[in-house]
Amino acid sequence: MGKVTITFLGATSTVTGSRFLVSSAKSKILVDAGLFQGLREVRRMNWNPFPVDPKTIDAVVLTHAHLDHCGYLPLLVRDGFAGKIFATEYTQKLATVILRDSARLQVEDARYAAEKGFSKHPVPLPLYDERDVESTLVNFAKANFREKVQISQDAFVTYFPSGHILGAGFVVLEIEEKLLLFTGDLGRNNHPLLSNPDLPPPMHFDAVITESTYGDRLHETSQGEFAAQINAAIKRGGSILIPAFAVDRTEVILMALHDLIEKGAIPSIPIYVDSPMALTALDYYRDAVKENSPELRPGVALKWKDADPFDAGELFEMRTVEESKSLTNIDKTSIVISASGMGTGGRVVHHLKNMLPDPKNTVILVGFQAAGSRGRSLEVGETKIKIHGAWVPVRAAIVKVESFSVHADSFELVEWLKGINHPAQVFVVHGETDAQEALAENLRKKLNWKVIIPKSAQVCEI
Ligand SMILES: [Zn+2]
Repeated sequence: MGKVTITFLGATSTVTGSRFLVSSAKSKILVDAGLFQGLREVRRMNWNPFPVDPKTIDAVVLTHAHLDHCGYLPLLVRDGFAGKIFATEYTQKLATVILRDSARLQVEDARYAAEKGFSKHPVPLPLYDERDVESTLVNFAKANFREKVQISQDAFVTYFPSGHILGAGFVVLEIEEKLLLFTGDLGRNNHPLLSNPDLPPPMHFDAVITESTYGDRLHETSQGEFAAQINAAIKRGGSILIPAFAVDRTEVILMALHDLIEKGAIPSIPIYVDSPMALTALDYYRDAVKENSPELRPGVALKWKDADPFDAGELFEMRTVEESKSLTNIDKTSIVISASGMGTGGRVVHHLKNMLPDPKNTVILVGFQAAGSRGRSLEVGETKIKIHGAWVPVRAAIVKVESFSVHADSFELVEWLKGINHPAQVFVVHGETDAQEALAENLRKKLNWKVIIPKSAQVCEI
């Protein structure tokens, strides 16, 4: 039996840039090829040459479509990777939307840098462009949930629904008689559409690689809090802005609003979804409901057979730039849901600029806000934030509602992981340092596991 190693090429001491290389004598498998996001020095790592020649990688296993898991793929392909990218059906569909949007943003950023002259390069280049994305998409290969697929000479992968976003899975990788489990991003047991994460299969794992985004925190606030904040804003005559990740969070929020309106907990007011990417993703979720996709909660398809789960009656889908701009002048109390979720880019930036100075308005933060993002600045109570080179005063109410997280919290992570039969080695990744350490400590104390927090580029033998 040959040696199997895992090299941690990203998501060490950070929640972004998931890239794990598993190598045997016969093959090299890359699990996720994510983009680094957040602080400038973290983002800069995207420009570093890939530490392993992409030509030598046999296959990529993609756990789900979020950019911090798939956003590096176009560079990998441009630099010579020619193997297959394994993904479930909806991961493939959503990754297509997310990667095309990412290329557009990279090109826009480069153009902006060129205009403003703040790049060191005479002609600033984008990290990648639309062509790189299109040549990546042809490499996708579909994997079904709970079916073992051969991905290289000596490696097999099986996907299990992880309840995180549509298409997301945790994966079991078998290579040279070694068994590895990658949690990807682990969801929770309360998603309104997706079924609970599958339980870990009853195998003896040689290595478990677990995320730890919320390894040091519990999700506490409830839907009651969400309703109360909306009602408070309505009473002040203001509007509500919800920066939301385009994929999944928008769906979860729309369903929560639908539910609250139906129960009479909040009045029916116009709800605008202002993000082209979110709207495309919304259509995929509608497709999944229509065709009763196996990842859905039992009964969901039947319940929404003749109705739209996302529309409580006043849903407006703002597809064009003109429609988006028209929102600036809306004087009627309304709810605007727009991406990106951390206020780092996209149409939400314009809404923040427009709505933050007015104390009648409320901004509701519903997701993880990475260090260095505008969302984090708002979360920690800064009184002004920089947008398009100018300071914008923060007078609107800023509230955080954590119940919409699609990541397991510290208790839920341990509860799920303890279903695994004492793994030989456990690696804690995909978390900021405090979260990684808290989860590692919990697993050592509660489950008596051998836990490692790998450093960047560390190579570990399995
Ligand atoms: Zn994710």
